[in-house]
Amino acid sequence: MHRVCPSVHFVTDRSGVRLSDLTTLRTGGVAAHAVSAESLDELVDAVRSADAAARAVLLIGDGSNLVAPDQGWNGEVVLIRVRGIESVRRGQDIDVRVAAGEPWDEVVTRSVEAGWSGLECLSGIPGRTGATPVQNVGAYGQEVADSITGVEVFDRENDRRMSWSAAACRFGYRDSRFKHTDRFLVLSVQFRLRQSRNSAPIGYAELASRLGVEVGQRAPAADVRATVLDLRRTKGMLLDAADHDTWSAGSFFTNPILTPG
Ligand SMILES: Cc1cc2nc3c(=O)[nH]c(=O)nc-3n(C[C@H](O)[C@H](O)[C@H](O)COP(=O)(O)OP(=O)(O)OC[C@H]3O[C@@H](n4cnc5c(N)ncnc54)[C@H](O)[C@@H]3O)c2cc1C
Repeated sequence: MHRVCPSVHFVTDRSGVRLSDLTTLRTGGVAAHAVSAESLDELVDAVRSADAAARAVLLIGDGSNLVAPDQGWNGEVVLIRVRGIESVRRGQDIDVRVAAGEPWDEVVTRSVEAGWSGLECLSGIPGRTGATPVQNVGAYGQEVADSITGVEVFDRENDRRMSWSAAACRFGYRDSRFKHTDRFLVLSVQFRLRQSRNSAPIGYAELASRLGVEVGQRAPAADVRATVLDLRRTKGMLLDAADHDTWSAGSFFTNPILTPG
């Protein structure tokens, strides 16, 4: 079984933490102070008290989409480490609520093993679940917006927790309402998945071809996961602590959107 290698060292509550130890690109100087939040209350309190003291806050999941500056961070780093997955059956579907600090690839692994279909193409993406709505994480024809039904949010401006529908998140291609503002902290994410050992319809030609199916057909979700991991490995898009060439912050570009002529 593949596990995305963890880049982040454990921090409880201390000063002098190096951002280069907290980011997959391994860049960044020293942070004035860092705290590891392991419950939703700790997470909200850490952000709330930094805001009240007018200290700048840098939220970090696994730092896999961050380019941290050499001069460091003169404020509070809040590491999002809240764990927990709850699931409820809804007929043929299953509603899964995932806390923001759950490592994303472990969520995908668990969904494939449990026969919950809909996340399999998102295998091998580093980071924590709370960051996935921020840029509407996607790969190989799937994106989290396909299965997110709601997001629990802390609104820093109004100091309150809210539950948002997927529509309220305004998801777009690698985009959402969370992306261009620091105002909202994602606390947990709710997904609706299908109970099936087969994948969702495959929407990416290269993946379909490797699986030997047509675009739009389904395949065993475990095969889809294995094939996606293989494809990612050949492209240097699977983090490997021993392979310097994989140390990155992900893609610096998005695909062009073409309109039919
Ligand atoms: C090798 C590699 C491959 C990748 N492949 C893909 C890919 O295929 N598709 C894709 O979409 N992305 C990809 N990425 C990018 C990255 O993995 C995702 O964006 C991921 O969701 C980031 O998660 P993180 O926990 O590391 O976020 P971080 O890098 O820690 O944070 C990213 C941003 O989100 C904010 N943030 C983090 N958590 C929260 C939260 N709970 N609430 C509010 N804001 C928050 C942070 O403050 C920061 O601004 C890849 C990255 C790498 C290094």
